[in-house]
Amino acid sequence: MSDRGSGQGVLPGMPVRLFRCTPTKLTTFEACPRRYRFTYLDRPAPQRGGAFAHTSVGAAVHTALARWWDQPLQRRTPERAAELVAEAWSAWPTPSSGGFRDAEQSAQQRERAQAAVAAYAERLDPRAEPVGVERTVGTPTAALALSGRVDRIDRRPRPEGDGDEPVVVDYKLGRRVPDDDDARSSLALGLYALATGRTLRTRCRRVELHHVPTGSVAAAEHTSTSLERVVRRAESIASDAVRAEAALAAGADPDEAFPTAPSSLCAWCDFRPSCPTGQRTAPAAEPWAALDPA
Ligand code: SF4
Repeated sequence: MSDRGSGQGVLPGMPVRLFRCTPTKLTTFEACPRRYRFTYLDRPAPQRGGAFAHTSVGAAVHTALARWWDQPLQRRTPERAAELVAEAWSAWPTPSSGGFRDAEQSAQQRERAQAAVAAYAERLDPRAEPVGVERTVGTPTAALALSGRVDRIDRRPRPEGDGDEPVVVDYKLGRRVPDDDDARSSLALGLYALATGRTLRTRCRRVELHHVPTGSVAAAEHTSTSLERVVRRAESIASDAVRAEAALAAGADPDEAFPTAPSSLCAWCDFRPSCPTGQRTAPAAEPWAALDPA
């Protein structure tokens, strides 16, 4: 371990340089160190593949749900939510720039997303102003300078009846509907809860995964003990990343310092064009293959 993350080798009284990270940066290293190097270290950045349609749909839905809360109260309606999806869709001037097969598929998916977001908005209370929408939160730990952007932070009454506290809300769109175990075991959600509590100077325990296509909500309640476990896990991943970066800086073979972790996910990796291991591991997925059939 280098002195960057651990403090080892630092003279007494000297400040420890914290490892700057987001939950995504940590989970990227955990999933595949080579992908981490491609994403955060190699410059110029290696060649990436084109857009994936399911990612485009996710981006449009996230944008629409964020902008919905910017609307004046009387315009926070399901109909306006659907319009906001259509407006976000203009980010892809051609179907292929969004990863869609053709104009027909793009239009079908847009209508599907509009219906899902309108139904989701129908269940929202437009007067329940969130504490934050796409809000950046952050906190230091013993080894990390952690930051991240939360889709939505609600304010809800405490179960104990003594005031209210923030709740971390993360939107999901995948085919699989997440369950409470997913919410409980998510490193990102745990770190968001920690950083939200520290940023807002209050206790934040509840995290929720909102599956927009079905309206299903998966939830977990963190405790101080479970948040300590989340921090230990994050710091362990960070110390491995710090060690790999230190080896690279010391002249190690970049491919040995950041090995590949091939899996079926290589079919969907942005850096597949730059990764012979990934190309051998899984056939390239069509950019629209992860869409739900319209
Ligand atoms: S294609 Fe696979 S092995 Fe290569 S960087 Fe991406 S995830 Fe890692």
